[in-house]
Amino acid sequence: MIIVRDRYGRKIEYLRVSVTQNCNLKCIYCVPDRATAKLAGQEEVAAAGSVPYHSCAATLKPEEFEAIIRGMAELGIKKVRITGGEPLTRPDICEIVSRTAAIPGIADLSMTTNGVCLDKMADDLKRAGLRRLNISLDSLKKDRFEYITGGGRLNNVLDGIDRALEVGLEPIKINTVLIKGVNDGEVDDFINLTKDRPVEVRFIELMPIGKFGEDNRDNAVLNSHIIASHPELVLCEDNKSSLPAQYYSIKGYKGKIGFISSLSHKFCSSCNRIRLTCDGKIKPCLGNNGEVDIVEILRTQPQKLAKHIRDIIFNKPEGHNFDKKYTSTRNMNAIGG
Ligand code: SAM
Repeated sequence: MIIVRDRYGRKIEYLRVSVTQNCNLKCIYCVPDRATAKLAGQEEVAAAGSVPYHSCAATLKPEEFEAIIRGMAELGIKKVRITGGEPLTRPDICEIVSRTAAIPGIADLSMTTNGVCLDKMADDLKRAGLRRLNISLDSLKKDRFEYITGGGRLNNVLDGIDRALEVGLEPIKINTVLIKGVNDGEVDDFINLTKDRPVEVRFIELMPIGKFGEDNRDNAVLNSHIIASHPELVLCEDNKSSLPAQYYSIKGYKGKIGFISSLSHKFCSSCNRIRLTCDGKIKPCLGNNGEVDIVEILRTQPQKLAKHIRDIIFNKPEGHNFDKKYTSTRNMNAIGG
């Protein structure tokens, strides 16, 4: 198998696959503003409050995801993360998981979910071949959780975390985006989650993606401030392999605390990932609007797929633009995080 490097010599081994733009939550910092929700070529889903579901003609089918991921695996992709929108809103999500899990070379298959449907789906996902889960959880207080997510029920997610641990989808990583004046008073509560549970809580700095993220740069909570105000945190040695997450532990705690400092740090020189959107575009960099269509070649000249992917990887941008004046053409629910 070839290991494809980009023009900066970076080994690209990690593919984040967004399988839908649709989501059953409307997190304030993620989903497009309702007023602009009608994006070209999309229809509003029946359920009130959901973001427009990507029209099925544009959204890839399970066999198309499989063909692309198989092509990527032959070029050195070893790790796949399924994300969205909310991946568990896709009725065929277990088929996508099992098709991906069966691809030779894919050594690690994980998912990022808001956990709302996890209680009911954890067993099926495990059976389909899913290994690990990242669960997004931005508040441990019912009312605040409902406010941040636009109507989500906290207990659904907590039940989902417990069920996932029961069926052995471990380790569970919890992703928390802190926003000044909204949930930044809950840092200690989240850290305490790691005391008696083998979970990893990761604080993700708010990125300037989407209107809320752009307008609230000053309300991002910088991870350095959390670390400085928690002297009990001890830096874990083996941080190299987990970049961009930096992990800390607390003496006597079962879990770990991670920090993903996309805003205040640039880990671009060690970036190893590319993204595939649900409408068949490869997005080589989260903080760059460049994307290349892959569906056309897949559907009309599949024999050219590998070379097309290699060229896209080679031309991956050197770094993100979060430290510049930057407006993302896609909201995060259309990228996948
Ligand atoms: N629906 C799934 C979920 O909630 O985890 C997967 C999709 S969601 C877009 C993936 C991750 O992106 C979530 O952890 C979410 O908190 C994060 N995210 C969304 N917008 C963000 C932003 N502007 N800055 C930082 N993280 C963001």
